[in-house]
Amino acid sequence: MQEGTGKPVFSGVAIGKAYVYDPRQNELPASCGDSELELEKFNAARETAREQLGALFDKTSSEIGEEQAMILDVQIMMLDDLDFIESAQDMIAGGASAAQAAHDAGDAFSAAFAAMDDEYMKARAVDVKDMSRRLVDILCGGHGGFHMDEPGILVAEDLTPSETVQLPKDKILAFVTRQGSANSHTAILARIMNIPTLVQTDISISPDINGKLMIVDGYDGRYYIDPDPAVVSAMVEKLRKAMAYKAELDKYRGKPSVSKSGKKVLLCANIGSAQDVRYALEGDAEGVGLMRSEFLYLGRDSFPTEEELYQAYKSVVEQLAGRPLVIRTLDIGADKQADYFGLEHEENPALGYRGIRICLTREDIFRPQMRAIYRAAVHGPVSAMFPMIISVDEVRQIKEFCRKIQSELYAENIPFGEVELGIMIETPAAAIISRDLAKEVSFFSVGTNDLTQYTLAIDRQNARLEAFHDAHHPAILSLLRTIAENAHAEGIWAGICGELGADLSLTDAFLEMGYDELSVSPGKILALRKKVCESEA
Ligand code: PEP
Ligand code: MG
Repeated sequence: MQEGTGKPVFSGVAIGKAYVYDPRQNELPASCGDSELELEKFNAARETAREQLGALFDKTSSEIGEEQAMILDVQIMMLDDLDFIESAQDMIAGGASAAQAAHDAGDAFSAAFAAMDDEYMKARAVDVKDMSRRLVDILCGGHGGFHMDEPGILVAEDLTPSETVQLPKDKILAFVTRQGSANSHTAILARIMNIPTLVQTDISISPDINGKLMIVDGYDGRYYIDPDPAVVSAMVEKLRKAMAYKAELDKYRGKPSVSKSGKKVLLCANIGSAQDVRYALEGDAEGVGLMRSEFLYLGRDSFPTEEELYQAYKSVVEQLAGRPLVIRTLDIGADKQADYFGLEHEENPALGYRGIRICLTREDIFRPQMRAIYRAAVHGPVSAMFPMIISVDEVRQIKEFCRKIQSELYAENIPFGEVELGIMIETPAAAIISRDLAKEVSFFSVGTNDLTQYTLAIDRQNARLEAFHDAHHPAILSLLRTIAENAHAEGIWAGICGELGADLSLTDAFLEMGYDELSVSPGKILALRKKVCESEA
């Protein structure tokens, strides 16, 4: 048996086969050396892609409509485009693998479309990329080169947000990484997925671990490889206790979140994608208080179109069936990077060109996002929330832009709904001027992860600083009190969507400060509701 320790990010016990994630697996495979065989693989992948797209076409046209499905029809036609096929064939004849050829020919073909004058043809560049990405995925067995044949435990050096979004989430029982901090976005994602996770472990990663039985104890921050029978029975006992606790929490399912003194608080979930709504519903969320929309931009190599964004938001709204949804606009930059944004290297990215600063200076990025949000609001209650705000002027610019978007949609005869506008309070500047900001918006949601990072001047990504990190620092608690007071003084609601919202040792304090909403990882909602219901505050 091999064992070790790490920092637990999410509790629970997982038992399963270990899968070592190596980012080099995402590199495209080299040719097997036989061009004929690579060509056969390429043609077989086209055939599989045609079947997949055909099935998707049928599903989309019956569930969403023929018009949306036509996008897929275009991709089916592109699979048979002679220029595309010949270009890939030439590459394979020149020694490229089928996957490399599908990727490179797709890139060249997509660039050619992007350079066309006709707006319709230009827009097809994305479809070409999507089609070639599908081929590459098929040729690599799905999810780039990383594959899990059964549910198991993912062991990695570290995971970037864009790597995490590409993983086969439904198969991952736990994460174990050598690096990573408890406040990183990967940790946040693990919390959304509700699975035991250890970061900063002492595990030595080698391919020999692959396939071995592994246990992750997210309560005590321990992992075991090839565990002894005594460890297995101890862990099974822990699992049994965890199930009993879960049954206890289940009694709070569907109950209102009201304290003993009658204070009602809305308990919502934080999510990153339309697929995550199921975790929110399983967790009994009363809504989604933070949809981190930047996850829709990660793990891909071109901007999502307005239509893609609209479909994703619409799917979330529909799944939530009347529960409120707060979409946080793109917060890319700092630790969340996507190459196609072409962001320059910065010395201090957390203090750099990120979040609303990108949106306010790149209308081409902001416009499709806001149009998609307004369009999705036709299907249910949607609010938009803006990250990294530091001034009243920024908020006024945003409101002006939103008015413009509404006029455009109106002029184009495109249906759109009402969208409440709120802001994240996650910079000390915003907290300090929150009374003025509250006059401009309909709600506040406090991003305690960044508010703590900026107030304490402690990089949330830097594991070496965790000893200095004090989540309960009096400066943070004092800012939190000020923010709630200022929101209420101007008649708007205030919530918390950073990790601190789930800290049960602060629930009484948050109720006493008057917070109206807490948005937390889906798996923490029932425990939080229990705490609220038992609170005297
Ligand atoms: C926060 O900063 O607390 C927050 C919720 O936003 P993110 O973690 O996505 O930066
Ligand atoms: Mg933040």
